[in-house]
Amino acid sequence: MFPSGYRARSVISVTLENIRKAYGPTVAVDSVTMEAPKGGLTFLLGPSGCGKTTILRMIAGFLEPSAGVIRFGDRDITHISAEKRDCGMVFQSYALWPHMTVAQNVAFGLEVRKVPATEMRKRVGEALEMVRMHAYADRKPNQLSGGQQQRVALARAIVYKPDVLLLDEPLSNLDAKLRLEMRGEIRRIVDDLRVTAIYVTHDQKESLSLADKMVVLREGRIEQVGGPREMYERPCNRFVAEFLGETNFLDATLDGSATHTPRVVKTRAGMLETTTGSDYPASATLVASVRPESLRMHPQTQIAADRPALRGVVAETTYLGEVAQHRVDCSGVNIKVFELNPRHLSRRGEPVALTVDADQVVLLER
Ligand code: ATP
Repeated sequence: MFPSGYRARSVISVTLENIRKAYGPTVAVDSVTMEAPKGGLTFLLGPSGCGKTTILRMIAGFLEPSAGVIRFGDRDITHISAEKRDCGMVFQSYALWPHMTVAQNVAFGLEVRKVPATEMRKRVGEALEMVRMHAYADRKPNQLSGGQQQRVALARAIVYKPDVLLLDEPLSNLDAKLRLEMRGEIRRIVDDLRVTAIYVTHDQKESLSLADKMVVLREGRIEQVGGPREMYERPCNRFVAEFLGETNFLDATLDGSATHTPRVVKTRAGMLETTTGSDYPASATLVASVRPESLRMHPQTQIAADRPALRGVVAETTYLGEVAQHRVDCSGVNIKVFELNPRHLSRRGEPVALTVDADQVVLLER
């Protein structure tokens, strides 16, 4: 456990109100209003070019918004320079000084702030301990692995106890195994420091596994805000559903009145039931989003003909160890099914019925 005196000086929220950033005719960020709650880990997520780095750089003070207000707690910092903002920043490229040792790299920000030598040594030691790099203090960056360099970059960002920690795709240069390990480390550090952290990525798994709050962006605008589970299970539109993970989209029409639950959904691949989308009128033309892992595959003979299910033939199976990915041809509609701990691998050509719980059939506008 870390000394509590090491924590962020004040735990503050970060608020953006109607933030806009235009580069000439290109609007990179438009009407973004959001809050990164105190001491939480908020993710800005979206495909390349959606404006996430631009937002992070405006929060850091490297870029000035064309319009709107940014607050740290109650303080309007929109036009305050970067040095006066108390933000620690971690970049994808680590950006360490190659000629300095690990300790000197971490101390650099404190030297600039003219922190006395004894205090500086203490803080550098604490920051390196926090990222578990104390034993490497005298090494140069080129004597470290990528993961170790990123830990040093983290130590450098937290050494002056920032109120806000900004992380710009910090794990994208690491291999898959290290990425997983560093995810856990980042979560631990944010919790121990009780710092308000904002993390930019286009990796949905990283954000689903770490985020307290996710903000999904598209073309400079917010599409949806929420917790990981809520966003994954209740996406507000096709873009969010698809961006957060694999899904099957089935053109669907609703059968029966909105007061009857579960509602019956007619698709070309078969009938389903849903408990979502109660706002849509009867006979609305919609799309049903069904995640591949929520479908259960049965031999067709085991499911009564009048039971809601998608019916088809296994067209292809890819075995991946812990999971098998099946493609089931349901009257010309291809349905992806993920089967965890697969037991039956020779299913090609087998007639199957696919069932799904009604709360996992999400109705969206087409
Ligand atoms: P990536 O994941 O690829 O880093 P991003 O979501 O971080 O993308 P931004 O870098 O914020 O996206 O860019 C948002 C939009 O603004 C893009 O269309 C980009 O081309 C444009 N843009 C960014 N910086 C500038 C600039 N200096 N001049 C003109 N356009 C810019």
